Amino acid sequence: MVIENLFLIIVAVSNLILGGLVYFNNRKSLVNRVFGIWAFSLTLWSINSFLFYVFGNSPSASLLLGRLLYATAVIIVVTLLYFTEIFPDSINLKRRYTAIIFAPATLLFIFTIASDLIIEDIAISVFDNKAIFGPLFILYALFIIIYVALSVFILIRKYQYVQNNNIKIHIHLMLIGIATSGFFGITATILLPMFNVFNVDKFGPVSTVFMVGFMAYAIAKYNVMNIKVIATKFLGILLSFVLFINLIFSKTASEFLINIIIFFAGTIISYLLVKSASAEINIRKKLENLTSKLQIANEDLRKLDETKTEFMSLASHQLRTPLTSIKGYSSMIKSGDFGKISSEQKEPLDIIFMSTENMNNLIDDFLNASRIEKKRGFDYNFVVDNPINLIKEIIDNLSIQIKNKGLKFVYENKINKEVKIKFDNRTLLQAISNLIQNAIKYTNNGSITVKISRTNNHLEFSVKDSGIGMTSDDLKMLFKRFFRSDSVKIDHPEGTGLGLYLAERIILDHGGKIWAESKGIGKGSSFFITLPVVKE
Ligand code: ADP
Repeated sequence: MVIENLFLIIVAVSNLILGGLVYFNNRKSLVNRVFGIWAFSLTLWSINSFLFYVFGNSPSASLLLGRLLYATAVIIVVTLLYFTEIFPDSINLKRRYTAIIFAPATLLFIFTIASDLIIEDIAISVFDNKAIFGPLFILYALFIIIYVALSVFILIRKYQYVQNNNIKIHIHLMLIGIATSGFFGITATILLPMFNVFNVDKFGPVSTVFMVGFMAYAIAKYNVMNIKVIATKFLGILLSFVLFINLIFSKTASEFLINIIIFFAGTIISYLLVKSASAEINIRKKLENLTSKLQIANEDLRKLDETKTEFMSLASHQLRTPLTSIKGYSSMIKSGDFGKISSEQKEPLDIIFMSTENMNNLIDDFLNASRIEKKRGFDYNFVVDNPINLIKEIIDNLSIQIKNKGLKFVYENKINKEVKIKFDNRTLLQAISNLIQNAIKYTNNGSITVKISRTNNHLEFSVKDSGIGMTSDDLKMLFKRFFRSDSVKIDHPEGTGLGLYLAERIILDHGGKIWAESKGIGKGSSFFITLPVVKE
């Protein structure tokens, strides 16, 4: 019995302290105020429970205290429901709604205290006092159960809708606290007593410690820093106060002198501590603010990016259909399917055909980029074979363009033995051509050197040009989607910045590596690809 009563006092004090800390943490916030009131009603409940057992053998006191005990539980559940409604942003509830919550509670509170409809009497016994329930006790029981269940339900809904992960965790904690306390509290003080089991009813108030603990933690987490300042201030004041008392009770003049120095030193140190704690908290708060703003901005950007990808894919699909007919018909006209064409008509037809071909490639790039972003990637058809002929073919085709531009072309093939790699013909061709085409595009004079060699485990392919080169910043961004260096935007406005992005993806999917080097603007560039050799 003594232990149980001691427990009740500890619970009362803990609830009071937790409630007080949250309340004084931010008195202007409705959430904190309601929490304070709620924790205070829990304290009253524990004290009441304690008094009920201490003064329980006096008939008049026991009936009043017993009724008060049950009435306080009404305040607890109604403030709890109100709290869950307004948490976390101190939402202002409509008056009508507040009235709907509070009206039945007020009635029930009055009936519990001032009538014998709920608690008819208290049967005093040496071991344990028992409440004799009135005819309407069942309504009381329903009220308590419904209010607690509603609170849990509201929190679950909030948990589902709330976006902020921090608040989600807080609500989760509260739910655990309320569900645990609600279950134990209702079982110990309502359900079991209804079946005449009274000896566990003290667990009701004791179980509230879960609830208050979890909830205080949840609220304080929001504003943990402020609580730190309050605690520092509190300790500071306490320290000065103790030192002051010490000073007053000094017995000799020299002791007084020493104590006065200690008092001032202690007070100054406390002051400095509080100051530095506040400064730290202010900085952290600003940081938190910035972080949450950044999170929101990031999320917006992500959504924007998704919309852009969607648009890219849609537009490309739409463009493709007319392009296919233009290409098909121009090819048929060229080959004389609609009658003989004159020599003047041939050149424009060739240009139409080439342009549609270019545009088709461009659309392919867009579609592939949007596929990658939608995590669908390329459709590969991997084979294990010798790629040298394929590479040679690309080089042969493009070497004409290199020479047409008046550039010197050097080709070095250092592979003299059969070499096999696992590759997809179409995409590997695309990646390699892109490097050579870029070298042609971004080199105005000088040379382009294409090399193929192998190490023990890898096939290495490189394209070196004497062109416009790149800055070290360009090199860092090179393989990012849509990246184009400032130096090319004016002279070569036609690029998309997708070629290298796709090439990197393709090479990575082949288990290889791709990278670039350049000594700076005007100093040429080199691109390298390595692919793993398949050993037999
Ligand atoms: P695009 O060539 O269509 O702009 P890419 O993805 O192929 O797209 O290339 C991205 C950017 O990388 C180019 O815009 C250019 O700034 C830079 N770049 C690529 N290859 C070279 C090169 N050989 N020399 C200099 N810059 C290059």
